[in-house]
Amino acid sequence: MAVLNRVLRLRAGGCFAVRSFRLSPRLNSEIDPKAASLLGQKPLPLQRDVKDRNVRWVFLGCPGVGKGTYASKLSTLLGVPHIATGDLVRDELSSSGPLAHQLAEVVNQGQLVSDEIIINLLSKRLEASSAKGETGFILDGFPRTIRQAEILEGVTEIDLVVNLKLREEALLAKCIGRRICSECGGNYNVACIDIKAEDGNPGMYMAPLLPPPHCASKLIMRSDDTEEVVKRRLRIYNEMSQPVEEFYRSRGKLLEFDLPGGIPESWPKLLRALNLEDHDDKESAAA
Ligand code: AMP
Repeated sequence: MAVLNRVLRLRAGGCFAVRSFRLSPRLNSEIDPKAASLLGQKPLPLQRDVKDRNVRWVFLGCPGVGKGTYASKLSTLLGVPHIATGDLVRDELSSSGPLAHQLAEVVNQGQLVSDEIIINLLSKRLEASSAKGETGFILDGFPRTIRQAEILEGVTEIDLVVNLKLREEALLAKCIGRRICSECGGNYNVACIDIKAEDGNPGMYMAPLLPPPHCASKLIMRSDDTEEVVKRRLRIYNEMSQPVEEFYRSRGKLLEFDLPGGIPESWPKLLRALNLEDHDDKESAAA
């Protein structure tokens, strides 16, 4: 991980001389035959037990889709770190470090932070991971631009990219309804999404995810979860981040996953799509 992180820094600085590093860059766009079978939304045929592999996954999807929720559940299940660049940005914001003021302006307007800053924050996080002896990762919120995707591709091979999708009507409501416990950091949602079936489109119900009583009085909203800013974030996602989906689709790495509803309906289906349902049974039995 330390090697990956040194290369990330070099790449972000525009230097592409990576000969002295162990991880050789993959600069071609050949389709990984294992991953090619992901096309057409088939269930993922994991070759070996995930516990034996170095999981290097990416979660893509619009703001509010639930990347953090599902990436975090999978990270617990698979024992790999969940690294959300949005969390790294918020940690930096809440510190009184030199970047905080500059970042606040960008984030509160719903804009993307520069590739250089994001890669710097990610490198530091990977360094900490490496020091703890962690291997693999589930990245959430990175890459968000083609340049970030190219930099990542140059330094490590991503096994799988999960593209979470949710109906547009639900995204805004989910962002605006998001609440965070200021004490324990728990994520909740007060939105009750109830879209009626119409013109042949199925309905969708997502129950609110309410906090336990000890968190209820400590809930806060993210400063970038206002209606105006969320609309801008969605627009920026379509402009800057949707091309990243195509980047991975063309490499046969993209698993498209349409969320059918809330966590109770979506989690088992996601595990099935990832060929992990047995794994979850074992974990539950052991718990
Ligand atoms: P998120 O929690 O993923 O919605 O991220 C919150 C904010 O952090 C975003 O709106 C961006 O301002 C910033 N951010 C997070 N990840 C990235 C990234 N990969 N590239 C640029 N900006 C990012």
